[in-house]
Amino acid sequence: HADMAMYQAKQNGRNNVQFFCPSHAVVAQAQMAIERKLKDAVRGNAFHLHYQPIFELGSRRVVSVEALLRWNAADIGPDRFIPVAESTGMINSIGKWLLREAARQSRSWREAGLPPVPISVNVSVIEFREQGFARRLLGMLAEEGLKPDAIQVEVTETAIMENIDHAAAVLFELKQAGVKILLDDFGTGYSSLAYLVKLPLNKLKIDKTFILPSPHSSASQAVTNAMVALGRALGLEVVAEGVESEGLLDFVQGQGCHQAQGFHLAPPMSGAAFCEWYLDGHARQADLH
Ligand code: C2E
Ligand code: MG
Ligand code: MG
Ligand code: MG
Repeated sequence: HADMAMYQAKQNGRNNVQFFCPSHAVVAQAQMAIERKLKDAVRGNAFHLHYQPIFELGSRRVVSVEALLRWNAADIGPDRFIPVAESTGMINSIGKWLLREAARQSRSWREAGLPPVPISVNVSVIEFREQGFARRLLGMLAEEGLKPDAIQVEVTETAIMENIDHAAAVLFELKQAGVKILLDDFGTGYSSLAYLVKLPLNKLKIDKTFILPSPHSSASQAVTNAMVALGRALGLEVVAEGVESEGLLDFVQGQGCHQAQGFHLAPPMSGAAFCEWYLDGHARQADLH
């Protein structure tokens, strides 16, 4: 019976919710409550960005930061509100604001005396699928007086595989202009490796679910090992996510990752906090081994 209701809900399209059991009704209600609050947040522009440093393991220096979306004053993380923003289309206006904000932050760090630190921005499948995404991004960078290497784009396997021809066209346009592309959450989606190898990617980010399990089982180590080897063989920079301890830092370095990101290295920080942190000399962590 539940399968049948689910089937009908699917037939009725993605935005059409059908209730077929009480627990689903509760979930849908919670979803709608977030939706209402999110609408106000979009109207009131109640978001800010945090920036998490990414270190090169060899030189032990910060090579970029990842911009992570935060909802002001709300105790809800992006893992929960971004799916709602996606299903309602609100992600498009959030994403436009976010790119502008990252560009503005990049300029203000330069004005404060920081060397150029590329900002990696997560692009939702919904934004990525929009016609003219690459053109808009490049136009925005030009308007803000930034070079294309000021912003890097993080896309997921899911976004790429949804429409491989479109993805290839967008990625080639960005690459040609000098914008670097990261494949995020690598290993968690379905991708056709045959297609992936043909795309102009610069970096592969190994999802934290492959790094975090500790102590490492030999099976999960084998998987991580194979992903790093694949990335390296394709000439990509391999970034490890979720480095929460010294032990994990040793692990990802031993696996041959080039770069790492994680709470053990540095947490996500406000733009002002990152600037201070950088100027205090933390961007060159000689004590990382
Ligand atoms: P992601 O792109 O894979 O981002 C990495 C997430 O891992 C971030 O969570 C970050 O805070 C967290 N993280 C970093 N180091 C560690 C660590 O050592 N251990 C653990 N356990 N976690 C760590 P956050 O900020 O909650 O973001 C979650 C996800 O939400 C992101 O995953 C991304 O998919 C999405 N997201 C965040 N900001 C944006 C955005 O601006 N636009 C879009 N479309 N999605 C975003
Ligand atoms: Mg990311
Ligand atoms: Mg990631
Ligand atoms: Mg992830």
